[in-house]
Amino acid sequence: MFAVRKQKEDMSKLILVFLGPPGVGKGTQAAKLAEDLKLPHISTGAIFRDHLKRETELGKQARSYMDSGNLVPDELTVSLVMDRLGQPDCERGYILDGFPRNLKQGEALEKALGQRGESITAALNFDAPRQVLIDRIAGRAEKEGRKDDTPETVKNRLEVYDAETGPLTPWYREKGILHDFDAQGGIDEIYAGVKAAVEALKSQG
Ligand code: ADP
Repeated sequence: MFAVRKQKEDMSKLILVFLGPPGVGKGTQAAKLAEDLKLPHISTGAIFRDHLKRETELGKQARSYMDSGNLVPDELTVSLVMDRLGQPDCERGYILDGFPRNLKQGEALEKALGQRGESITAALNFDAPRQVLIDRIAGRAEKEGRKDDTPETVKNRLEVYDAETGPLTPWYREKGILHDFDAQGGIDEIYAGVKAAVEALKSQG
């Protein structure tokens, strides 16, 4: 009896992974959906930037990797995320933005969820042509002044994305949980597609 009830609870927990290259706008979409569904938006980039600003020990360790557009080592990233997922506000589900970012992180997440009898509900994959990404980041750089938005760093971030994060797309596709979104349109237009897909998932669950 208890096992049945537990399984039902787990099915209703919405665990979403947002994937996509730098500049694709997945952070914007993740924030909108999180607000709509009242779920935590867990952006590893934002968490790291907060540590940088507060000059914590983790911030000091992450800075050189972030400034050059490389990935922060998995040992630091995985434990940070696992800690966050164990917090009470994650009980109903959460939106992961920027994690996992390579297969090792993907496997670590899958293992941790498996131990709790949970699994990812869906991976939402956003894509747009390279030039669109580069133009968007250039626009953001003017407004926000992120240190990793310089042309040289952006080039490296796109290369790191292709080499490290790219393989997660076919990996999730094979698991049958990948949903593709064309991220070339306007924010609201893209969001309408995201919302429809998530509503469909919720009614299945
Ligand atoms: P973007 O997706 O636009 O490149 P993010 O804000 O997601 O930007 O991440 C900024 C930087 O933070 C990355 O370039 C990387 O150095 C670090 N970072 C974020 N998430 C991860 C992760 N899961 N693993 C390793 N490094 C990460």
